[in-house]
Amino acid sequence: MLQCLREIVYNVLMIGSPGTGKTMLAKRLATILPPLTSHESLETTRIYSAVGRLPAGEPLMTTRPFRSPHHTISDAGMVGGGSVPAPGEITLGHHGVLFLDELPEFNRRSLEVLRQPLEEGRVTISRAMNSTTFPAAFILVASMNPCPCGYMGDPKHVCKCTPMQIEKYMGRISGPLLDRIDLHIEVPAVPFTELSAPSDGTNSGAMRESVYRARAVQAERFGPGPGALNSRMSPRQLRNFCPLDEDCQGLLRTAMEDLGLSARAHDRILRMSRTIADLDGSLQIGAGHLSEAIQYRSLDRRLWAR
Ligand SMILES: [Zn+2]
Repeated sequence: MLQCLREIVYNVLMIGSPGTGKTMLAKRLATILPPLTSHESLETTRIYSAVGRLPAGEPLMTTRPFRSPHHTISDAGMVGGGSVPAPGEITLGHHGVLFLDELPEFNRRSLEVLRQPLEEGRVTISRAMNSTTFPAAFILVASMNPCPCGYMGDPKHVCKCTPMQIEKYMGRISGPLLDRIDLHIEVPAVPFTELSAPSDGTNSGAMRESVYRARAVQAERFGPGPGALNSRMSPRQLRNFCPLDEDCQGLLRTAMEDLGLSARAHDRILRMSRTIADLDGSLQIGAGHLSEAIQYRSLDRRLWAR
């Protein structure tokens, strides 16, 4: 579980029963991110200062924003809007985490408008006379129950949902949005105390160190500058930095066919494998790295097979 959260420059969807500590995990994710670089810090400060929300006594923002809007939020509140366009939650979450708890409860339209910013790291608000662009490079961390009652797969409770109810619930999240979420993680129904005290000795400090290390490898690969991350590699960079040997090519091809993956999911798997290999200190992406990345697309099959 914590293993897969090591490198969290990726968008994550956590699926689990109520009480599995999804919210606590999301908050914890924000704390293991590397500190803001001076460039990021200035950008974030500028946004918060423009909307008059700079924290008291903090002339320069140094911690990454953590935004968790309620599911009743309006489209404008989410992406920005108004007669004089004001930034929304996704811009307030720039360089930080946007946590959407109970994802299927959100208005479907306000989720669909996340697609452009998730791809481009910014949002454009169009008006009749002009349009405004705000930065919005946030990490999306979302959570949802496995079914409407929340107990599907929970050994201690009985799920009473019908297949039709489950399908309808899952259907509130569109395939294209799901496609833009890199990691689908099933959070096991265990008490949060067990999750927060991992037996493998991984703690926040060690996790933070892993993230630093992966970031350092990426900085070396892409050179300095914002947005130089495995998770944002272009198709051309994918070809350069993620060559697969024949075995791996076969493995990926089989997974694509078996899981019915889209081209976008294919690229996300490659980006994720690159990071897993980096964390492993390996120049070459191996079959183990690739399989781990494929495993994180488990929901594709369940949701796409509708
Ligand atoms: Zn249920």
